Amino acid sequence: MTRIAILGSTGSIGQSALAVVDAHADRLQVVGLAAGENAALLAAQIAQYRPRIAAMATGDAIDRLKQAGSTAGVTIAGSGRDGLVAVASHPDVDVVLCASSGTEALEAVLAAIEHRKTIALANKEVLVMAGGIVTEAAARYGVVILPVDSEHNAIHQCLHGRPRSEVRRLILTASGGPFRGRPASDLTSVSAADALKHPTWRMGRKITIDSATLMNKGLEVIEAHWLFGVAGNQIDVVIHPQSVVHSMVELTDGSIIAQLGVTDMRMPIQYAFSYPDRWAGPLPSLNLAKAGRLDFDEPDTSAFPCLRLAYRALDAERSLPVVLNAANEIAVALFLDGTLGFTSIARVIEQTMAAHVPAEVGTLATVRAVDLWAREHAREIARELELER
Ligand code: NDP
Ligand code: MG
Repeated sequence: MTRIAILGSTGSIGQSALAVVDAHADRLQVVGLAAGENAALLAAQIAQYRPRIAAMATGDAIDRLKQAGSTAGVTIAGSGRDGLVAVASHPDVDVVLCASSGTEALEAVLAAIEHRKTIALANKEVLVMAGGIVTEAAARYGVVILPVDSEHNAIHQCLHGRPRSEVRRLILTASGGPFRGRPASDLTSVSAADALKHPTWRMGRKITIDSATLMNKGLEVIEAHWLFGVAGNQIDVVIHPQSVVHSMVELTDGSIIAQLGVTDMRMPIQYAFSYPDRWAGPLPSLNLAKAGRLDFDEPDTSAFPCLRLAYRALDAERSLPVVLNAANEIAVALFLDGTLGFTSIARVIEQTMAAHVPAEVGTLATVRAVDLWAREHAREIARELELER
């Protein structure tokens, strides 16, 4: 039995992960669950999976959890980052799936690494914010980080242990989101409801907006840098609207290896849970004749400047990726609230990055300090942009 903890079990990835557990109940056991605010769903999951330990984001959510159902036999670990840390480092856990949104789970990922748990990583923000710290800790403790993000999972499969010296470049595919092909001038008045209509994937709200701005791909470029040790100028992005090719690796002799599959996150989640083995899964085969054609195109960084900003942050390294990620989280939340325009998301990020004096971020404390500064600054810039509207 592989014993797993899921951070963010009530979310899109978390629920897909539990579906993978259902399909492989003879091999996977849920030992820990953590969620944010959805006490009713976590209570139902606890009743079904009987984990040893559970946590929620706030004390209020934990109160609601206790009212919603029996937690007998389950250790309630507490709230906030401490609760996540307790779930991720529980002695009975073998694999921690980090699938919570935001960056609250950063300390929990580091704690899991220190306790030598295998990390199945869906959350890319953690690597964008502290990729150096996380990957150094993983190397020090001999811990494997298995990417669940579909592109990185694809690249992991294509690389198949191949040495970096044989890799010429990584090619991340991007669906292009709901606004693919539209010029910048057309995007000023789009609403959150428009942006939430992703053409190929069903995901949480924040990542769906990131897909519409192409920031998701920008964050993934930085994620790929840390996961695979490849420089930004060796990571390309290609628009591929059908999302059939999940990503590719070009080797030094010019040969390109691609991973293809249906658009269902149960595939990369199961890969991470079963690695290095492969299990027969419940997913349908990909019907290529039905897919018909596969298109590829250059990304339009004038309409979607967030991708360019992410490359810039990665090139500058040091604290700029922390700023990029924090400003983006603030801007996306304000856009979802209806208080910031779609094209202002990139402006908030760009202006926050411009106002930042890059610093070394070798410790968790410095990362968190830069993150806090960037969030405050991004809020101020957003307020100014709103006054202009
Ligand atoms: P969702 O918004 O659907 O789910 C987020 C989950 O995180 C929920 O369970 C939520 O709990 C939980 N959560 C939020 N804040 C906290 C907190 N402070 N403490 C504990 N739990 C918390 O997001 P997704 O599942 O779509 O995405 C999750 C992560 O995976 C993101 O980083 C995303 O970038 C990444 N990812 C997602 C993909 C997808 O297909 N969805 C694909 C690739 C990567 P609650 O709902 O109870 O408040
Ligand atoms: Mg992805």
